[in-house]
Order: sequence, then structure tokens, then C-alpha cells
Amino acid sequence: MRKPKAWSQPCSNPDCASYRLINRGNVSALSTYLTQSGKRRIFRCKDCERTFSETRETVFFDLRTSEEKVIMALKMLLGKVALSAIGFVLGVTEETVLEWLRRAAHKAQEINDPLLRDLPVTEVQLDEMWSFIRRKPAQQAETDGESPELSEDGRQWVWISVAPEFRRILAPFVGPWTWESALQLMQMTAAVVLGIPCFFRDGFSGYLPALLAVYHTLKTFPRPGKRGRPKPPVKEPPPDLVYGQVSQQTRQGRLHEVVYRVCCGAERLAELGLSISTSVIERLNLTLRHALAPLVSKSQCFWKERTLMRRRVVFLQAFSNVARPHMSFCLPLLDQAPHTSGLMQPKWHHRTPGMAAGLTDHVWTWRELLTATCEPIHHQSGSG
Ligand SMILES: [Zn+2]
Repeated sequence: MRKPKAWSQPCSNPDCASYRLINRGNVSALSTYLTQSGKRRIFRCKDCERTFSETRETVFFDLRTSEEKVIMALKMLLGKVALSAIGFVLGVTEETVLEWLRRAAHKAQEINDPLLRDLPVTEVQLDEMWSFIRRKPAQQAETDGESPELSEDGRQWVWISVAPEFRRILAPFVGPWTWESALQLMQMTAAVVLGIPCFFRDGFSGYLPALLAVYHTLKTFPRPGKRGRPKPPVKEPPPDLVYGQVSQQTRQGRLHEVVYRVCCGAERLAELGLSISTSVIERLNLTLRHALAPLVSKSQCFWKERTLMRRRVVFLQAFSNVARPHMSFCLPLLDQAPHTSGLMQPKWHHRTPGMAAGLTDHVWTWRELLTATCEPIHHQSGSG
């Protein structure tokens, strides 16, 4: 048997004390086997004496399809190709593609969880964009465009929070345009950032109560003498909470005026020297509409159910944070010696939002995105 080596391969037995722990010296390679995509290793964990394949905890586990085909299908899902077209091109059923998506979204969440936590973020931009689930008329919207709670409205919104500093997608949520959805987004965002960042959004009324539900101080009132109940405590914005809105007013279909309003935390906003802006998230919305077929305006595509929509967005979040280089973070490579064989030298060092923020040190490949193993958060070193 080969000498044990740090394989970066965790034990995949949930009953083992070393389950999902990486580089603990418990895993050694036993043998290899041939798959459609080449040789794959069989590992053995010395703690629990189980053997397992290297694809065990990955998107590719136990699939009869080649890895290349799975990757191609997932790339197309993020490349504005309709589900039916993917099935047609690759000769697989739509259900098969959706099963690959389910696995990919699960893996993406495993990657997002340890990467996105305790983030020192000063500014968060919020926005949401709508799409249809099922072909239902969007008739139940109220006059301000907000759909009532539990409505049968076919429209669903992709709610997103973004840290503009490194263009990281902090949290995505898919749901109706209600206060509850805003609250979900706020809770998911608060769970990954350190302290209280400044929040900017263009005008939806649901965010301020949702922000206050997550960040607040309780103001209590003294008992009014002997009789009567004391007034119940009231939630007030903490001094650090900043919430600014941008609203664009149009006249005859043209942009007339942009109004900036600080709803709370004007002092801190001035101290930080930030200005209210939602430009980064507006640009990201455009990217999303170019990536996901059902978000394309006037598209024939639509999401069959909310879960599928969530999966695509979560997968896109991981891809966008660690695997897609962004032009604004690329560094020029200077003073390169010419290649001996006359080949063109790369001119840029490509970096992803995750690299720019120091969360990872390289551009992840698609295979990495689908096979990465991350330790559970409570086993990792760091502040958490
Ligand atoms: Zn084990």
C-alpha cells in the first residue's frame, strides 16, 4: 500500500470521527478505477476502515454520464440556454439536467458557507428582479407593485444583496415581493457580515422594517405608576445602522430626477464618507439576466417552481464569487519575457471577487466548483 499522503480528501463516512475533515493523515489511496472521464482513486480512511471513491461527496458521484457532459450542461444553465435546449443538445432528459443542478447547488452551498462568513463589509446594496413561476397572470400586485402575502401571483423575485467593495454576492433569496422575503434576505445577509454595514436600496418600503427586525435596540418605557400596563418596548434603529434609498423619478418615460434619501444613520454615513449608490447591484442584475434564461426579458422560459430558481441562483452565486474572473480585479502582468516558442503571453492576472477579497487564492475551475470539499465551519480555524 502506498504511503499515506495528505490527499485533501476527507472521509465520507458520517459516522466516522474524521468525517469531512481534511488533511488529518487518516486517508490513504488504495487503488484506482477507470471511468468515462479517466482514472479515479479509491481511498481508505484508517479511522473507520471504510473505503470510498474520490467522487463520493461530489456532483459526479455514481453518475453514468461523463464529467464533461455534466459540466457542459451546468455551463449552459449559467449561459442563458433554456433547459429544453440543453436536453436537446446533450441528448438527456430535462429531469436529468435538473438532478445535476440539484447536486451542483448543494455543492455550491457547501462552498459558500465557509467562504462567506464574518465578512468585514461596510456597504451592502440590495435589489430584486422578477420572473415568472408557472404561467400565471401577475394580477394580484397592489398599486405599488408589491404582491400581497401568500398571493397566487405567478411572479417571483430574485432578491440579492451584494458587497460592492469586491462585488461579492452575499445572499440570494427567491420569493414573492413581500416583507417576509425582505426579512429573509436581511437575515441571510446579517449572518455572513461582521457588524452592521450600510444598506442602500432604491425605494422598496419593505426593507426598513426588515432591517429593524434584524438590527435594533429595544427602547423600554417606565411603568406608569401602580395601575395599568407598561408600554411595550419599541424597536429602534441602532446608532450604527445606515439605510439609504435612491429613487429614480421619470417623466414621460424619461429619467427626470434621482432622489437620494437617508432613512437612518445620516451621521455614520457622513463619517464613512460613503454616498448612496446602487450601481454595482444594478450592473449585477444585468449579468444575472444574461446568465439565467428565465430572467431574460420577454423570455419564453420560466421557472417551474421556486426551488429550481433558488438552486440556479445559489449555484450562480458560488460561480460568480470564486470561478468567474472580473475585469475590474484583473492585474496587468508587466515585464514578461517573450515566450520561447513565440506563443502569446497572458497580459492579465485574472482575479475573481473571492480572490480580490482574499477568500481564495486562485480562479476555481469548473471541476473544482463541483468537487470541492470544505470542512464544516466549526472545525475550521479563524474567528468563527
Ligand atoms: Zn473515516
